[in-house]
Amino acid sequence: MRIAINFLFLLMSLTVLAQKDDGSYTVLKHVNIIDVNGSPIQTDMAVIINGNRISSIEKTSKAKIPKNALIIDARNKFLIPGLWDMHVHVFNNISKTPPDTNDFSMYIANGVTGIREMWTKMESMPEVNRWRKQAYELPGTVPRIGAVGTMVDGFPSQWTNSDTATMEVSARQIVQQIKAAGIDFVKTYNRLPRKAYFAIADECKKQNIPFAGHIPNRILLKEAADAGQRSVEHLTGSRIVFEDDCENFIAETKKELKDSIAVNSSIVPIIEQALELCDHDKAFAIFRYMAEKNVWHCPTMVLYKRFATDSLVIVNDPRLKYISSSEKASWMKATGSRLRRKASPDYLNRALAQVLQMKKAGINFLAGTDFDNPYLYPGFSLHDELQLFVDAGFSPLEALQTATINPAKFLGAIDSLGTIEKGKIADMVLLDANPLTAIHNTQRINAVFVNGKYLSKETLQAMLDKAAAFVNKK
Ligand SMILES: [Zn+2]
Repeated sequence: MRIAINFLFLLMSLTVLAQKDDGSYTVLKHVNIIDVNGSPIQTDMAVIINGNRISSIEKTSKAKIPKNALIIDARNKFLIPGLWDMHVHVFNNISKTPPDTNDFSMYIANGVTGIREMWTKMESMPEVNRWRKQAYELPGTVPRIGAVGTMVDGFPSQWTNSDTATMEVSARQIVQQIKAAGIDFVKTYNRLPRKAYFAIADECKKQNIPFAGHIPNRILLKEAADAGQRSVEHLTGSRIVFEDDCENFIAETKKELKDSIAVNSSIVPIIEQALELCDHDKAFAIFRYMAEKNVWHCPTMVLYKRFATDSLVIVNDPRLKYISSSEKASWMKATGSRLRRKASPDYLNRALAQVLQMKKAGINFLAGTDFDNPYLYPGFSLHDELQLFVDAGFSPLEALQTATINPAKFLGAIDSLGTIEKGKIADMVLLDANPLTAIHNTQRINAVFVNGKYLSKETLQAMLDKAAAFVNKK
């Protein structure tokens, strides 16, 4: 059970929050509770929140309602666990703008009460710790920062600002530094040489710190599974299954592998794997292998949806009102040429088909967006990702699991988060309609509870209005 051990220490940062009984009670009456484990909906329930924990769940008629409790009539409404976006970049290391705390209110207003940050620099840890403290002291202002990772790439790195490791020694050193800085995991990236990757894997085991991220260009999927990589982002390493044709992809793979250091001998197996992935039965066997090794996938399909969407729709997205003009300009610059191309749904459709194949092979999924990539929106885009899981062939329940119970399991926090149960932390979203009949109902948010704090529809709207006003002043 390496998984559990690896992520267990995260619990400390997730629940710095010991029981916080401040004598205050909030009661949801007549609510319908969605069990993300898949049991039938519990109807007409009373959920009592004491401090930041759920202290009781009973039929409303049987519940003992504490005096002076804040009572919320939740008749005909549906309660789900707080949502997680498991792939975000709140540090804006690409645009290099400072962390934008304005984004936080957009996550929360969208019911996203937890995030996994995929590219924290080591020197940013004091800031993460400040935010984590604030999440506890001023609940409702910052989502739960479940895990933060530092990106390690080969040299030269794909992004100029990355940490790099090329040799075994430097790879081990960087893992030790990351651990010492209080970072939760190592994020592996595309150009890591094989030696550095395997040294990272081994040193992570020694330091008892997980690693997750991209599967580097020179690493086979099965090798990543054997090495103990915990999650794979954006379907890296296997995207060939949904590439137009194998020949093209193999030519591109060869070109990609010609970066910095020529390691020709290691290219052959990668090309062989590419050919295997072109064969659906062989691809399925590889996915089975990854499932058996408990390698999770965070496909960020919403990232690919942008290029399946007409550019006029993208540049007229009403959610752009939450994005500053400088950020918008950088988005335009980064994606201009791609946006001018005709929308191509094929690429997205193949991604969806692959995700379904992987699910059939038994792979577990995490919902993530890859914000702050251009034309993605804090909070909002997570709901788009949930819809894409359903478009791929997941049931609404299965889609919901990728943003609730699955992140809690993945982070080793299932004892305190991820479902609505007595004793758990009250991170919850109250919906005006049933998300199990249509996943887009996750957007019909009536209220959000963050670490026990109740935020009404009006409060959430005010947070969004403030976010829009803030960026327009910039
Ligand atoms: Zn990312």
